[in-house]
Amino acid sequence: MIKIGVPKETYPGETRVALIPANISQFQKAGAEVLIESGAGERAGYLDSEYLSKGAQIVKSREEIFSNADVILQVRAVGANPFEGSKDIALMREGQILIGFMEPFFAKEIVEKVAQKGVISFALELLPRTSRAQTMDVLSSMATISGYKAVLMAANYLPKMFPMLTTAAGTILPAQVFVIGAGVAGLQAIATAKRLGAVVRAYDIRPATKQEVESLGAKFVELGLETQEAEDKRGYAKDMGDEFYKKQREMLTKVIAESDVVISTAVVPGKKAPVLITEEMVKGMKPGSVIVDLAAERGGNCELTEAGKTIQKYGVTIIGPVNVPASVPFHASQMYSKNITNFCMLFIKNGKIELNLQDDILSSTLLTKDGKVVNSIFD
Ligand code: NAD
Repeated sequence: MIKIGVPKETYPGETRVALIPANISQFQKAGAEVLIESGAGERAGYLDSEYLSKGAQIVKSREEIFSNADVILQVRAVGANPFEGSKDIALMREGQILIGFMEPFFAKEIVEKVAQKGVISFALELLPRTSRAQTMDVLSSMATISGYKAVLMAANYLPKMFPMLTTAAGTILPAQVFVIGAGVAGLQAIATAKRLGAVVRAYDIRPATKQEVESLGAKFVELGLETQEAEDKRGYAKDMGDEFYKKQREMLTKVIAESDVVISTAVVPGKKAPVLITEEMVKGMKPGSVIVDLAAERGGNCELTEAGKTIQKYGVTIIGPVNVPASVPFHASQMYSKNITNFCMLFIKNGKIELNLQDDILSSTLLTKDGKVVNSIFD
């Protein structure tokens, strides 16, 4: 019988779990049994007893998981968990399949070590953004949570309310929210801020986003810089270079100064995030304003952002959150688990593992095989 192993996450502050009890039956139907390290789901609200009742086996030690499982499922696998996670490399075996976030663009050395172990690893960050891959798209799932939570963080620090209220004590004006980057996280931030009653504006360099922004009831800010050229074949933004970003900062200055809340989500895959908010621009904001920089882990869209910290500068609160999905572990795990289960069903069938590497979803995410690093992102 194929064995699926789910170790406890070891990244500091990580609360998610890669597989929740509800998805175990899909593995059973495909002819696999599931081993869960005891307590793996506890921080996300999924107890050992629930896994047991769905037919999983609870295993006491991490070593046992790695020595028995054919397929290891993690949220943050080595690469995305550089210090604690590298201890797992010693436990891995030749031919074992490892699936999870692996930070492939930034963790080449660790990926080399995984390759040397003979592990077949898949980095879920590299899933293609195609319709067929949509049900496995962990990046979209986690970005949805981040966008939602960013608005709540902002609301928590803002000395104003979000909605417009007409009360006997006078009229309360709605908060002005500006979202930079209208990808999955940005669109969810727009929707959440609208639900709270704010007036929302948004900007993205990809012109295709205008319609999406407007369909959520927000206003698209036209800077005249948006261009088809900004989008690569996969639908991601390209690195536009310093001159472009300089112009963009100049044009964003006024909108940012008018905003109570700025939520920035602008990133370019594999690159440091573009700096779109300078210290000068922060000085121009009203006291009490809040910036939530969702690009903090990628260097930040605001030059004052400190990743993992909330700071006050010139009367403005600048939040640089890291690992936001881990702050909503129940639903983050639910979505991640469904996505990774769908991914596994591509190659676990009738009690067998059949890796068809002609499948574009498997070939795009495959990082290591036969002792080598095989993904073209490393070329
Ligand atoms: P992302 O997280 O890579 O980037 C966030 C947003 O920042 C993007 O919209 C990007 O255009 C924007 N950005 C980058 N530089 C900017 C700048 N200088 N100024 C303003 N904005 C800037 O993006 P994402 O959320 O992963 O989405 C990337 C693409 O993938 C989109 O086209 C999205 O529609 C698409 N997508 C497709 C599927 C699917 O078909 N399965 C699923 C999810 C997303």
